[in-house]
Amino acid sequence: MNLEILTDVKVKLTDKGRSVFANRSFSKGETVVTGRRVILLPDRTNHSFQVDFDMHIELDEPGRLINHSCSPNTGVRNNQFGAYDFIAMVDIPSGCEITWDYETTEYISIAVPECACGSSNCRLKTRGFKFLSADIREKYGEFIADYLKP
Ligand SMILES: [Zn+2]
Repeated sequence: MNLEILTDVKVKLTDKGRSVFANRSFSKGETVVTGRRVILLPDRTNHSFQVDFDMHIELDEPGRLINHSCSPNTGVRNNQFGAYDFIAMVDIPSGCEITWDYETTEYISIAVPECACGSSNCRLKTRGFKFLSADIREKYGEFIADYLKP
């Protein structure tokens, strides 16, 4: 894949592996990355995204490369590609790393055994939406997977 064609975001190698950064500034509410489903998986993996209680997918790049944060700058929204869009939950300056919270799509998450997001409210590891407190669920509002909405 030719990364030169990605204008809104760019992929850079960091100590977390390939990571996604804003290549321009985004306003709160803007779509930062549109994810497209590339395959359906029978079970969760470290890189899968959960789209229903019994359905996991892999996303195309750069969506699949966006790292977890316990205090992320984007939130997920189900889209027409059977996957998720990543929507700016705050104004994001150019150059900032793009992050989302894995626990907003994963009912149970195995992907981050030791979180290194560095936020003051870091949950230390991802366990999944099932284990999120009511406060945190409320904080995300609409920015959780449709299948997890009440
Ligand atoms: Zn964290």
